Amino acid sequence: MPARELVVLGTSSAVPTRTRGHSGHLLRWDGEGLLVDPGEGTQRQMLLAGVSASDVDVIALTHEHGDHVLGLPGVLQRRAMDGATTPVPLVFPAPAAPLVAHLLGAAAHAGALAVPCPVDGDGPVRGPDGSLLRVGGAVLHAVALDHRVPACGYRLVEPDGRRMLPAALADRGVTGPAVGALQREGRLEVPGGVVHLEDVSAPRRGQVVAVVEDTRWCEGALRAAAGADLLLCEATFADAEEHLAAPYGHLTARQAGRLAREAGARRLVLTHFSSRYPDVGPLLAQAREEHDDVVAAADLERHPVPPRR
Ligand SMILES: [Zn+2]
Repeated sequence: MPARELVVLGTSSAVPTRTRGHSGHLLRWDGEGLLVDPGEGTQRQMLLAGVSASDVDVIALTHEHGDHVLGLPGVLQRRAMDGATTPVPLVFPAPAAPLVAHLLGAAAHAGALAVPCPVDGDGPVRGPDGSLLRVGGAVLHAVALDHRVPACGYRLVEPDGRRMLPAALADRGVTGPAVGALQREGRLEVPGGVVHLEDVSAPRRGQVVAVVEDTRWCEGALRAAAGADLLLCEATFADAEEHLAAPYGHLTARQAGRLAREAGARRLVLTHFSSRYPDVGPLLAQAREEHDDVVAAADLERHPVPPRR
């Protein structure tokens, strides 16, 4: 099982279909899980997808519409039934606070298993203790989007690091535990002198996963998707319904493709399809005319984050 992957729980917009549940996506990252938008039915979709409530370490809501949030009380109650006692950070756009309070109230005693972390505008998300909120070491960022209610996209950003170069290490005679010491200290004394970390490693860009749910085309979507290795993006409409996209605050599949291309994102995963399309093949084809690496998500699928280039 890849350490970094997207588990698709639901891919329908507004209403579920026989084959597509309400919105829900779990991002697994180095042993921790970020659940984005637990729509109605998410608890059962998690069961079918082989994900347990204890696999969720952070929950993020993109906006307050019911099709994205009504599964929250059930997910929290399931955590309580499974014996969880540690609350998870619950991230959401600040103006959704009253609705979030209702949802936590509906979860009764299990509402205490989520700690509200409202976000305002763009930037790194702060956890309950005020420190940067991380998922498996990657930092969660929020980006304001443009929907019919306050909405935000999310970026999970791995800090840049350094890749050790085995040949250079061997050259300097650095082996075994000394490699770890060099990585920690940045320098290491060896019989021939001093080895600096930069001498035996190269910069390694951190990976980024971006989630752009309900939004019309906007600058925020471009910022959210910028340079993502994997971009999960809503694709509510096909070309034929393009006239509906902006008024309803959504994107077409073609716009999602354009977004991936203009933002320099790598793999685009389309989701959030209108129930009017039993077959999303045409939407996938339209997005592929704009961007070369596109797949359409289906419920219960897993999509690995592409390996580093
Ligand atoms: Zn939606």
